[in-house]
Amino acid sequence: MSAGTVIIAGAGQSGAQAAVSLRQEGFEGRIVLIGDEPSLPYQRPPLSKAYLAGKVEEPGLLLRAEKVYADQRVELMLGQRIEAIDRANHSIRLASGATIEYSHLVLALGARNRPLPVAGAELKGVCYLRTLAEARSLRERLGSISRAVVVGGGFIGLEFAAAARAQGIEVTVVEAAARPMSRVLSEQMSAYLSAKHEANGVRIVVNRAVCRLLGENGQLSGVELDDGTVLDADVAVIGIGVLPNVELAEAAGLAVNNGIVVDDHLLTSDPAISAIGDCAAFPSSFAGGMIRLESVQNAVDQGRLVAARLGGKPAPYASVPWFWSEQYDVRLQMAGITSSHNQAVVRGSAQENAWSVFCFRDGVFLGAESVNRSPDHLAVRKLLGAGIAITPEQAADPDYDLKQAAAAAGK
Ligand code: NAD
Repeated sequence: MSAGTVIIAGAGQSGAQAAVSLRQEGFEGRIVLIGDEPSLPYQRPPLSKAYLAGKVEEPGLLLRAEKVYADQRVELMLGQRIEAIDRANHSIRLASGATIEYSHLVLALGARNRPLPVAGAELKGVCYLRTLAEARSLRERLGSISRAVVVGGGFIGLEFAAAARAQGIEVTVVEAAARPMSRVLSEQMSAYLSAKHEANGVRIVVNRAVCRLLGENGQLSGVELDDGTVLDADVAVIGIGVLPNVELAEAAGLAVNNGIVVDDHLLTSDPAISAIGDCAAFPSSFAGGMIRLESVQNAVDQGRLVAARLGGKPAPYASVPWFWSEQYDVRLQMAGITSSHNQAVVRGSAQENAWSVFCFRDGVFLGAESVNRSPDHLAVRKLLGAGIAITPEQAADPDYDLKQAAAAAGK
């Protein structure tokens, strides 16, 4: 496809990447990038880290300067919501009533916060941390609060906790599961992170649900747990996961199952519509089935892959999944999809804050979590990418040269 109109619905990390890459792939037609947030496409990872800590300002969050979109002839339509897809007529309808026709539509609709369904959720001081507007409002409050309760011990909750402790705020994390970050991390790594947070003064409460948010004069004053405990709080930060934005696709009759279902080329059942990023459920050999990933790596690589296909170079999506987080002096890097592991092998030293957990399922290598050991992480990404497995014995052997194995994998 070298001409026509490509509409990219969603101006987050994957949508912006697809737009710019599409031009780089030599596409000559019209590229329209539509997003409902008012700002230019920005990076989300710093929102819960450097931005909250006041180490980066809003201009530093932008993925690209406005001029780049103009130079690449990407038409930006910001602050505009798409209300419907008309597949029969190859068009989308905006909230304004305007319609735009497409030759190809890329759904990069992302995900939204999963709301906490309890009484008091409307109180002032109940905060989320996904969008720039939410991060801005939370950052403004940090200077004037002394106690925060974090609901959900996942990425958002723990990164916020670390940023808040650095500003002297008292923090309690309430996690419904038996341990923080159980969705993605091994027991060993969860325990290590919990200990880090506790050493930094965070109180972590597990196996507890929030049943009510309490307020005075419309302002949050406390969080009531299901055992009757009331935690005093000036803010409650809710980080209990996200919901993929699938409704537009569903209403248009596309298959949806924990995400907009796509094939290994990221194409939906309609050959004129692709889906990428947080909203897409795709087949992955690393997951052994369909998966939906919420990560920068996935957003960027899927944006590039769809752009290459539309530019005439189709390929199946096979990128190695990887993630990272920063909390205190911990740089946590994860490679592969390790959630189904039943064996964990440690390399390095947790006491020295430099270690990795290699994860296996029935002896099959799935990936690794690394703390302050980037060479392990990079080696694992190469090994997984080349389809080369290592054994639990090799992972456990400090003399086993992981870097050399990875270098050999690259040949
Ligand atoms: P998450 O899925 O990482 O963690 C949610 C946590 O909340 C889980 O531990 C879950 O057990 C817990 N939980 C669920 N319901 C609960 C309840 N009612 N009460 C208490 N705990 C409950 O999601 P998140 O932390 O909200 O992050 C949102 C999104 O942002 C995710 O897509 C995440 O991947 C992304 N993110 C990524 C990073 C990173 O990669 N470093 C950082 C921040 C956010």
